[in-house]
Amino acid sequence: MFDPCARCEEVLQPFLDRELSDAEHEQAEAHLDQCAYCRRRYRFEEKLRMYVRQACAEQMPPALKAKLAALRTPLY
Ligand SMILES: [Zn+2]
Repeated sequence: MFDPCARCEEVLQPFLDRELSDAEHEQAEAHLDQCAYCRRRYRFEEKLRMYVRQACAEQMPPALKAKLAALRTPLY
């Protein structure tokens, strides 16, 4: 089965890590515009990273852990 998002992982990971060139970044943005799956994934990953960054700066409170767990579910 052809998966139009087979390469999404490749695009999204560096996108999230801000490792893309301007042109590549534009491509990734364009894909996110068209692809609901990736958009959802990207928002999720973005939030996840935000929380992880916060968690590194401070001790992760139980409420935040629960929030993270809740964030995982919409993907499946
Ligand atoms: Zn996609």
